[in-house]
Amino acid sequence: MKRITIILSLLVFQFCVSQQNKTQKPQKQYEFILRSAISNFEIVFKSSPKKNDLVEQKVKFIMEQAIKGEIVFTIDINANNDLSAMGFNDYYNENRKPAIIIGTYFLDQYEKNPSVFYSALVHEFTHAYDYFNSQQYFVFYKNNRIVKALFEADAYAIESLFIENYLLPQQFKITKFETFLLEDFKNTNLSKIILINQIASIHLLHNFLQIRDSKESIENKTNALNAIGENLLEKFNSIPEIKDNELKMEVLSFYITYISMMDQLVYDIEQKESNTILDTEKFSLQNYKKLYQTKQSISEKIKMYEPEFQEYIIKENARIRIEI
Ligand SMILES: [Zn+2]
Repeated sequence: MKRITIILSLLVFQFCVSQQNKTQKPQKQYEFILRSAISNFEIVFKSSPKKNDLVEQKVKFIMEQAIKGEIVFTIDINANNDLSAMGFNDYYNENRKPAIIIGTYFLDQYEKNPSVFYSALVHEFTHAYDYFNSQQYFVFYKNNRIVKALFEADAYAIESLFIENYLLPQQFKITKFETFLLEDFKNTNLSKIILINQIASIHLLHNFLQIRDSKESIENKTNALNAIGENLLEKFNSIPEIKDNELKMEVLSFYITYISMMDQLVYDIEQKESNTILDTEKFSLQNYKKLYQTKQSISEKIKMYEPEFQEYIIKENARIRIEI
């Protein structure tokens, strides 16, 4: 209990904007809700009969940073009015402390659905943990879609472990989103949430990283990537036979991931080899003729499925943001 009091007195709150929407509560009230939500989170975290080492590692580390004032909690009254309203910002190069940014949506929901606040908090703590513990990597790859998707998968995995090991054993009534996430974690290794949220196939991304980080030459690596593409082309004609729509979308995501991430991936491979930061302007996938051709063929063929794929992503993305 003593620890909680310490945290409460040291937490730094900030408001992003002073302007206020009429339907919202006064700022003081949001600040009050956030304070009690965080202290309740700590109670939930500590009193769980089950524990998980990875969750313990992230949460304890970030709580300690919060006590030291190395990370702050910021209330954002202009965030989206849905489950996307919580985030982590490192504010790197801005001379500001990194922050967990909490939209008022979560605070408005808190009384009715406390569990989803706790789960989202653990998700953001994981991003913050990654930032503090691999700062250079985190900042360098911030805009790299491949690495970003994997950081996202990591945060969803820790969030799922928290739901499973801390919320469920304490009989929390979890939201539809948390149920969906936990099932996805157990059944498909988060492939659905990463598909909807990052428009990528997590399985293919893991293959890509394995190739990127292997000890092979650039030529062998690009040949391996080409082989994956040729295999996709061979299987292309069997797509109409897939009756299950979810499965069809997952299969389509292999093709989409392949064409949308290949340039970035080969650039990363070149960069890894050279150990310096390469000029993106000078990079061209066309330097790898076979691989470039394979990517072009896939781009052409997949066009016919793009509208239904996009429609699926938009619909599912909206669903998981508002389903509570
Ligand atoms: Zn995230």
